[in-house]
Amino acid sequence: MNSLLSKEKPGIREIWKKRPLIISGPCSAETEEQVMETARRVANTGQVHVMRAGIWKPRTRPGSFEGVGSQGLEWLRHAKQETGLLLAVEVAKASQVEEALRAGIDILWIGARTTVNPFSVQEVADALTGVDVPVLVKNPINPDIDLWTGAAERVAKAGIKNIGLIHRGFSSYGHTEYRNAPLWHLAIEMKRRNPDLPMINDPSHICGRRDILFKVAQKAIDLNYDGLMIESHIDPDRAWSDANQQITPEQLSSLLNRITWRREMAGSEELHRALEELRNQIDHLDDELMEILSQRMRIAEKIGEYKKANNITILQTSRWNEILNRAFNKAEDLGLSDEFIKKYFDAVHMESINHQTKIFHG
Ligand code: PEP
Ligand code: MN
Repeated sequence: MNSLLSKEKPGIREIWKKRPLIISGPCSAETEEQVMETARRVANTGQVHVMRAGIWKPRTRPGSFEGVGSQGLEWLRHAKQETGLLLAVEVAKASQVEEALRAGIDILWIGARTTVNPFSVQEVADALTGVDVPVLVKNPINPDIDLWTGAAERVAKAGIKNIGLIHRGFSSYGHTEYRNAPLWHLAIEMKRRNPDLPMINDPSHICGRRDILFKVAQKAIDLNYDGLMIESHIDPDRAWSDANQQITPEQLSSLLNRITWRREMAGSEELHRALEELRNQIDHLDDELMEILSQRMRIAEKIGEYKKANNITILQTSRWNEILNRAFNKAEDLGLSDEFIKKYFDAVHMESINHQTKIFHG
């Protein structure tokens, strides 16, 4: 493609509004050839708006590949010239912001290991003052949405108008299905608090492996996310970082083709009425559930009074096990998952304990 044609490609203003916004490219820029071939194959899918590539890599442990540094920006510039793809890179320091902007990078993102550190976020934000560039803020590695919000606020205070959020999952101890637990409810709550900020899902860093990327991407789309960031590499097994989770641009294309895309609200009056009717029923049931829970707490308080009068402990482990076992047995017939029942009863039990503690100590 010649440079005249690439100039006619949509610019960042237009691309920023695309829904779903699709960002893809390698975890890290490795060599000029790898960047160029990735860009060509990613552009060939015709489904990707922005190419990502890590230039400076914040690695959890020292000694792993830490990125090619500034020279990679030049490779990315060539890739953009040739393919017209817009570019996104991660920045963690003022000098990186300055270099990335000088190289014409279109979108900057703040990585999960940076969002946790207000000093670093503030340094990045200060370097962004007076600049007109979209910034994506990844969730912090720990499940703390105030830190995530704080990072977005620091960027907003620097005058950045186009801010987006990336949900990349949260570290947890021990081995799970995911590299980073999605904790969907935290991203949903973040979106509720910041309805104007686009929320992009990053299945690659949530999954850490290829076989469940589709499942997570589809779930994000079902939950009305505004876009996806998925790592792609020309030779995933030999990637210098995050090899297990990367897919080829062609595999990315078939993953995107398999997704059932959804609209937030379809048009017809009839559908609106049907949904409203069902939502009314839900509101009604939620009210009833809360009233019943309140009754349950009153009874727990009465039990608390007996316990206090007889000087016995609030927590009775055998009784707690009995409650849980009864609930698990019943839940199966009712079509409720064990996972939900455990969380629900943990919360109810904790609330009961709190009510009884008040009875004990006033
Ligand atoms: C990345 O996008 O390659 C990256 C390092 O991600 P995160 O900050 O989510 O770990
Ligand atoms: Mn990565």
